[in-house]
Amino acid sequence: MIYKMFGKTGKMVSVIGMGGMRFKKEEYADGNLEKPAAIVLRAFEQGVNYFDTAPGYCDNTSERIYGEAFKTMKGKGTFHVSTKCGLWNAKNSSDTRRMIEKSLQTMGLEKLDFYNMWCAKTLEEYREFLKKDGIYEGALQAQREHLIDHICFTTHMSGEDIAKVANDGLYEGVTLGYNAVNFAYRQKGIEACHAAGLGVVIMNPLGGGIIPSNPDYFSFLKRGDDSLAVSALKFIISQDLATVAIPGYSSVAEVDENVKAAENLRPATKGYLEEMATHLTTELNALCTGCSYCDSCPVDIPIPKLLESYNNFILSKGNMTQVKNRLKNHWGIDGSLAATCTACGQCETLCTQKLPIIKRLAEIAAAY
Ligand code: SF4
Ligand code: SF4
Repeated sequence: MIYKMFGKTGKMVSVIGMGGMRFKKEEYADGNLEKPAAIVLRAFEQGVNYFDTAPGYCDNTSERIYGEAFKTMKGKGTFHVSTKCGLWNAKNSSDTRRMIEKSLQTMGLEKLDFYNMWCAKTLEEYREFLKKDGIYEGALQAQREHLIDHICFTTHMSGEDIAKVANDGLYEGVTLGYNAVNFAYRQKGIEACHAAGLGVVIMNPLGGGIIPSNPDYFSFLKRGDDSLAVSALKFIISQDLATVAIPGYSSVAEVDENVKAAENLRPATKGYLEEMATHLTTELNALCTGCSYCDSCPVDIPIPKLLESYNNFILSKGNMTQVKNRLKNHWGIDGSLAATCTACGQCETLCTQKLPIIKRLAEIAAAY
């Protein structure tokens, strides 16, 4: 395993971490957490020391699964735990304090290493965390009392918006989705966060499983004998800008496969990144890259979010439910607003991929 410094925190974290949202329901539903906890333990044995979770993941069981594994891991080496608090489960600083205490209790910890303001989708939401007596203030107080070490945020904002807040000086790390499909869209934000000295945690490095399950689409990522998943992870963690990638694991075998990405890792060169970017406009030319060039709709349709979600329709070969889930769970928007498109055509003129945006919006609207 390779370890990198997490921003300016002084903590060394494994370049391959663990996300805690892909445990299989059938393995935890009966309350016996032994099987999913074994996945966490396997990751730890393989050198993973960054464990990310959140209240709510896996039907509120993810933190409990981690807690079960941590009982065995304590005293056997350093590991770092990251969890979260969102605007929907905390309205003020006292709520935040309650959430922190609950996470500590559930995982059997005395302190949380990284505490995240969870899922700022827009600049407005980002600022909501910072309001007087809000979540950030609650986290700050908990930090003074040594209940948490570092305050971070997770976000789905565009690279441009992330760049606007990277230098706030309020956070020590950021968690954001970054993979072979959206990397161009997020690049600016990641570069700004890295330059500002934040630790950069990469969630969704395999595009929610889309990359390994579409080998034809993503064959350009494959390197040598490495599997597509390992190649896709290497693409992320070989970049200086990324501190730790946190794929989720559903089995011990997936852990064993993913940690291979930290073997024989060579730093990404400028030429390699440019070559990958070229593939976005060739092999992936039917996909929205999330570049946001189209994002000035006169009737305020958030086109990049809708079109990025539509990628799931293409990659799943026609499953509109995946698009609806993406819109609801990832972006938090009601896809029926696609019906407000007046077909003025402005966005199609601006689209870097020359996508049939109006047609795709009509298909999304028809699904509601
Ligand atoms: S075509 Fe539709 S989505 Fe595109 S800019 Fe015009 S109204 Fe907005
Ligand atoms: S629809 Fe086109 S311009 Fe808009 S974000 Fe996607 S690829 Fe970029």
